[in-house]
Amino acid sequence: MGLGEKVLVVEDSRAFRKYLVQQLTHAGYDVLSAETIEQAQEIFKQNPQLFCAVLDYCLPDGQDGEIIDITLEHGHRVIVMTAMFQANIRERMLAKGVLDYILKDSTYSVFYLVSLLNRLTKNRNHTALIVDDSMVVRRQVSHLLEHQYIRVLEAEDGVSGQEVIEQHPEITLVISDHSMPRKDGITMIRELRARYNKNQLAILGLSASDDSAITAQFLKSGANDFLHKPFNQEEFFCRVHQILDMKEATMELYQMANQDSLTGLWNHRFLHNHACKTCEHYCIALIDVDHFKKINDTFGHDAGDAALVKLAQILKASFPDDTVVRFGGEEFCIQSYSPFDHFIAKLENMREDVSKTPIVHFEKTIIMTISIGVTGIQGSLDEKIKKADDRLYTAKRSGRNQLVAYDVNEPDEPNPE
Ligand code: GH3
Ligand code: MG
Ligand code: MG
Repeated sequence: MGLGEKVLVVEDSRAFRKYLVQQLTHAGYDVLSAETIEQAQEIFKQNPQLFCAVLDYCLPDGQDGEIIDITLEHGHRVIVMTAMFQANIRERMLAKGVLDYILKDSTYSVFYLVSLLNRLTKNRNHTALIVDDSMVVRRQVSHLLEHQYIRVLEAEDGVSGQEVIEQHPEITLVISDHSMPRKDGITMIRELRARYNKNQLAILGLSASDDSAITAQFLKSGANDFLHKPFNQEEFFCRVHQILDMKEATMELYQMANQDSLTGLWNHRFLHNHACKTCEHYCIALIDVDHFKKINDTFGHDAGDAALVKLAQILKASFPDDTVVRFGGEEFCIQSYSPFDHFIAKLENMREDVSKTPIVHFEKTIIMTISIGVTGIQGSLDEKIKKADDRLYTAKRSGRNQLVAYDVNEPDEPNPE
């Protein structure tokens, strides 16, 4: 999970330091450790880029949290782990910009630390949009999120919020105020939810209003959660972390249900659920590997798997704007909105590419060919698949390694394609 990010641990207790280093290394972090401020200074000199520093409050050469200021001055993110809990120290630390303050009271503290670091690592995949008419609030929230490795965009009302979302498909989290000129937050969220489900966009409502009905309205309009302004930094982070965790978990479930685990392509269920029910103008191609059983028999099942993965990569790279699906076994399907002739030409190129791309699996070299049936007839998805399958069968019967796009046996049939 840690993806080799550099984490510094400064801790004078040898046993606890060893335990932390071991746990963080196990979690995939590149861990540097020091037991004094002096040693930490050396590490700062050699490592200007640290992902985060995990600091003990009391060290032999600085017993009153001095290491925290020094680390913050170097521009690093800081998590404090300490045996003493004092409300005033905690407040002071958080006000200085420490990410979190964890009490070293049980093994759960280290578990909490690892999950916090993992959250920060995953935050790099997120972009948040802050919609608020107050520049002060926008600045404050942006600062908090950027500190947690979340990229941030801003908008000053519901109308521009929607525009920014249109232009930035990478946005995964929206944090929105309610009362704003032109369009309020609740209306904006309701409209966003008509287009983006909770898999695609997590939404946190913010409002300074004392009206308790606002909370319910935010949630009913589709916000995942709600927070009162002014808020406390810790509560804000807990809410943001929770909705991002939730979003990622739902996404994982969605992928498990809709993606093929061997190749990462979409599966049959995805195509059926996502095919536009009212669209007629798209083409379907069915692709089947020739004599695949022989590839398995000659080179082994694992080599067969490697060949399928390679073919999936070629299909994805050749049809980046289309829906590429593994139907099952060695059969694939492409749904494309390209003009029929253009689609056929691209498929032909890809077919040739496949036949000329030897797949090397350990010492073995596999040559693979494919047969393709294509259609652009009007009709339902099932009708299109049936037509493409008939043509695939013709391609197989006529000698394989070829594409069939018309019904040669029915010359009278008009060619709507
Ligand atoms: P044809 O040219 O007529 O398509 O012949 P074929 O041998 O490719 O077709 P057939 O449908 O008879 O055999 C497909 C084989 O694909 C049978 C099955 O064991 C194998 N297969 C299905 N799924 C997988 C898989 O995930 N991995 C591997 N390695 N083999 C698979
Ligand atoms: Mg086959
Ligand atoms: Mg088959």
